[in-house]
Amino acid sequence: MFKKTLIAVSLAATTLASTSALALEKVDLLIKNATVLTMNEDRTVFKQGLVAVKGNKIVAVTNGKDVEDYQAKTTIDADGDIVMPGLINTHTHVSMTVFRSLADDVPDRLHRYIFPLEKKLVSRDMVRIGAQLGNVEMVKGGVTTYADMYYFEDEVAKTVDKIGMRAILGESVIKFPVADAANAEEGIQYALNFIEEYKDHPRITPAFAPHAPYTNTTEILQKITKLSLEHDVPVMIHLAESDRENEVIASAVVVNHLLLTWQTLAL
Ligand SMILES: [Zn+2]
Repeated sequence: MFKKTLIAVSLAATTLASTSALALEKVDLLIKNATVLTMNEDRTVFKQGLVAVKGNKIVAVTNGKDVEDYQAKTTIDADGDIVMPGLINTHTHVSMTVFRSLADDVPDRLHRYIFPLEKKLVSRDMVRIGAQLGNVEMVKGGVTTYADMYYFEDEVAKTVDKIGMRAILGESVIKFPVADAANAEEGIQYALNFIEEYKDHPRITPAFAPHAPYTNTTEILQKITKLSLEHDVPVMIHLAESDRENEVIASAVVVNHLLLTWQTLAL
């Protein structure tokens, strides 16, 4: 009799253990005790919330009362810190971090300072170093995605790939000689090579970036519009940054056409 009872208890314990093991959801990362800003339609905030991640997907965002239901490879106790969706920086020239604040308050700073300085200093090395610095600063500020346009975007892409961010990266096309192209045609070819290299990257969207209507010709913009549709990639362009640009745009049929294609990101 005694023996039978013991066995029953033992069996019951086994059943209980296996039931709870089955109920636990296995995840890779569990962030608990977080102030979770869900940013859902109701702007719900969980004071001691949790976020569960499996692979590269968020599988749960809850008020944290179900914390015992998860078995995680890694658990982070946020201790009340904020967990929220990453911020998106919609316009950067990340490598220009090295020129930070230069002549910001000077009219026509682009032609008086930036273009001459870029002529002397832009190189593959400068783009890589500026991108590394800028990416680290953005991550520290909560930015996880950004839209960039500059030269040597394949160097920027290497940094994005390594650091784990997401980005739309536009290779600049401009009608005068620049560091990575002698003319717009070379710029377009550089962009095409870059697009080919990164078109299947899970976090990087390569793009064309004609600098602005006033630094490109109608023909260049027409060609880029056509190629962007063929390759199904976005176009990024500076528009309406000043009164002078507004006048150019108002009279530019091609720019208006560009804007009508869904791929255009006007900046
Ligand atoms: Zn810009």
